[in-house]
Amino acid sequence: MSILNFQLIIIIFTMLLTLGVFSQDTAISGIRHPESGIQDQVSTGAVTGIAEAPQDQGARIGRWVLVIHGGAGGPPQGSMPEEKEQQYREKLSEALSIGTAILERGGSSMEAVEAVVLFMEDCPLFNAGKGAVYNDEGVAELDASIMDGSTLMAGAVTGVTRIKNPIAAAHQVMLKTKHVLLMGEGAELFAKEQGLELVDPSYFQTPARTEQFDRMKKSQREQEMKDDRPKGTVGAVALDNMGNLAAATSTGGLMMKMKGRIGDTPIIGAGTYANNATCAVSCTGTGEYFMRNVIAYDVSALMEYRGWSLEEAANYLIHDKLKSQGGGGGLIAVDKEGNVAMPFNTNAMFRGYAKPKEGSVVEIY
Ligand code: ASP
Repeated sequence: MSILNFQLIIIIFTMLLTLGVFSQDTAISGIRHPESGIQDQVSTGAVTGIAEAPQDQGARIGRWVLVIHGGAGGPPQGSMPEEKEQQYREKLSEALSIGTAILERGGSSMEAVEAVVLFMEDCPLFNAGKGAVYNDEGVAELDASIMDGSTLMAGAVTGVTRIKNPIAAAHQVMLKTKHVLLMGEGAELFAKEQGLELVDPSYFQTPARTEQFDRMKKSQREQEMKDDRPKGTVGAVALDNMGNLAAATSTGGLMMKMKGRIGDTPIIGAGTYANNATCAVSCTGTGEYFMRNVIAYDVSALMEYRGWSLEEAANYLIHDKLKSQGGGGGLIAVDKEGNVAMPFNTNAMFRGYAKPKEGSVVEIY
């Protein structure tokens, strides 16, 4: 081969490379699978396919939004001791500042919602992780789920009794398996393999929950619905500077629930949903209603198929649809533009949000 021919081949090869003919990325569209090994990258960065991040990503800097909840339910305003109320407010503020620090430094929405929920799982005030409610055998059976709106990938665990932080296990299910939902012992084995901390089931118990359990054991299981104590499921939704949405929810479920009962929290579409095309949602309340009405996904569907605003969709579902069926609860949501909705139809919902220019806001009633 002459030197001239060789130079010609090099020039053609360089042109093809520039056009991206050999690039794997040009072939990728739609949902990416963790086995592709690029999951972390798509969780935090721009994405092609179903839910595209905005083209002009620079314009997003400083446009992050974080919304959290610590459960719906609770007594009417004025009946909770002031000191207790203050404790809730402080912990909600702390949770917001943890997520804010991540989003401010350009961290992803997935990183933020996981960190916030993990913090709330460790706080005994809430019904998730330590401080979770017990089933009818006196054991805390925990549920959690997380969803990445940029890839529509999701992970969840249900009925776990030994994983210290179920939300971390849910995230690992998303990242390391081809499944969405792992239950009980299998989920615990998997969590251990991932290096997550396992604890004795007694770790989750607190004197306040034991007292609540003992009191309710004397009456019927249905009493739970009438119990006016804060239930305390936790959740977070976020929009990051890259325009990616994420949602996470974690709970002990309902006090005195039947052993084996699964609520909406670990069910993608019922208690948790995120999609860059619309919004990110985390629900709290009597899970059976949220499951039957597929509430988290329905917020997104009303926006996508009917063109409703986030506020219209969220308010309709909580104040009309669920309320007319007797379903108590609420949800937090953020849409791709950074709009926030936090409707609830119960006496109270522990909640808060943070935005770059507005700082953080915590509300209960
Ligand atoms: N939704 C949760 C469940 O039904 C409980 C709650 O949010 O309070 O398991």
